[in-house]
Parts: sequence; structure tokens; C-alpha cells
Amino acid sequence: MLLNNYARSASILIEQLKKLGVEDAKVLAVLEQTPRHLFVDDVLKHKSYENTALPIGQGQTISQPFIVGKMTEILRQVGVEGSVLEIGTGSGYQTAILAQLFESVCTVERIKSLQWQAKRRMHQLDLYNVSMKHGDGWLGWSSKAPFAGIIVTAAAKSVPHSLLQQLEDGGALIVPLGEYEQVLTLFVRQGEQFIEHPLAPVKFVPLIAGDII
Ligand code: SAH
Repeated sequence: MLLNNYARSASILIEQLKKLGVEDAKVLAVLEQTPRHLFVDDVLKHKSYENTALPIGQGQTISQPFIVGKMTEILRQVGVEGSVLEIGTGSGYQTAILAQLFESVCTVERIKSLQWQAKRRMHQLDLYNVSMKHGDGWLGWSSKAPFAGIIVTAAAKSVPHSLLQQLEDGGALIVPLGEYEQVLTLFVRQGEQFIEHPLAPVKFVPLIAGDII
């Protein structure tokens, strides 16, 4: 899928991600083949294969490739298969990675203009197993629930209980928790119990409560 000089930049990025500890060969292959330069503005294309978050407008960012790889790998490690919900579509980069690894992806974004751009990118990449919703991610997407996995790509200042309720039994939610100090946290559902595993400190834009724009 990747043409010309971007392919070389992508393979250098993949080597970096391996050194940083992304291990899942399928995740690495999908990251290598997904054209991250299509998810950023023209003026930032020269940075698109750097292992950094980049601005995407509206005060938001496309996540760092390492964190995209790691969160995706964790979902697979805990056995998530089938349908996945993403909160915070943003550029659609994480969405595109998920769409290539899971049966179907539902994704919710509160900023309409970002959602439209992301939708266009899914078509450009022939990814047709993605459903998008303009709405408040704190509420999840109840009519599409239950999900095998839920991934939140913005930091929630408290545990998003409605998302936990939208997990199927055995399903997993991965979410950055906190405001200034954030901890990537995994919850695994066992019946009506949710087993919490704090994983690592992270830095995400906030999961905003309330109005959608
Ligand atoms: N996965 C994205 C990350 C984007 S940054 C990417 O790789 O590009 C986080 C995104 O979460 C932003 O686009 C922001 O608008 C969105 N967001 C923040 N609060 C939200 C909420 N309550 N509901 C839905 N989306 C939200």
C-alpha cells in the first residue's frame, strides 16, 4: 500500500517501535502498511513517520505510533476478537489500524469536521468495516453494544462506567485515566466484575464531557 520514499520511513519507524517493545508481528505489519502521511496535513507530512503525536487541528492530535501499536497489541493479547469500539476518532489513524485487525470497528468523535475527514480516509483506504458516529464518547454506542473491546484515545478523568457496561463478558476496555497524571488502564469484564490493571503513565488530550461540535 505504501509507495516510494514513505515506505522507507515506515520501515525505520517499525524498527523503532520494535525496540520500544511492540512485539505483535501482525500489529507491526499493519502499522508498516498504513500510510500515516494520509492522516496529517500537508505541512506535517515530512514528520508523519516520526514516533510522535502531531496536531490535526481543533486542538487535537494524532496519537504517537508507539501508543497506537501498544494499545492495539494489548487488545489482541487479552484475546479481543470481533467488534471493537473506539472513542475519539480524531484523524482516523487508530481506526484504520483497528479495521485491519478486527472484524468491525465502531468509532465515536465529538468534532464533526474531524469525523468527516476520517470518513474520507477510510474510503480512500478501502476500509469498509468501520461505522462512524458523531456524538459524546462518554456514552459509548449502546445500539451497537456489546463490544469485545473498547479503546479510548483521550484521557478520561474518571472511570467511564457506561463504556464498561457496553463490554461483552470477557471483553476488555483500555483507557487513559486521569488529568495531568494519566495512567493507561485495562479493565477486563468478568460477569458484573471489572478487573482493573494499571499499565503505564501516558499523555493524551482530554476526553471532553458534554457538548459535541
Ligand atoms: N485516535 C485518534 C486520537 C485523536 S485525539 C488519532 O489517532 O488520530 C482524541 C480525540 O478524541 C479527538 O479527536 C477529540 O475530539 C476526541 N474526543 C474528546 N472527547 C470526546 C468525547 N467526549 N466524545 C468523542 N470524542 C471525543
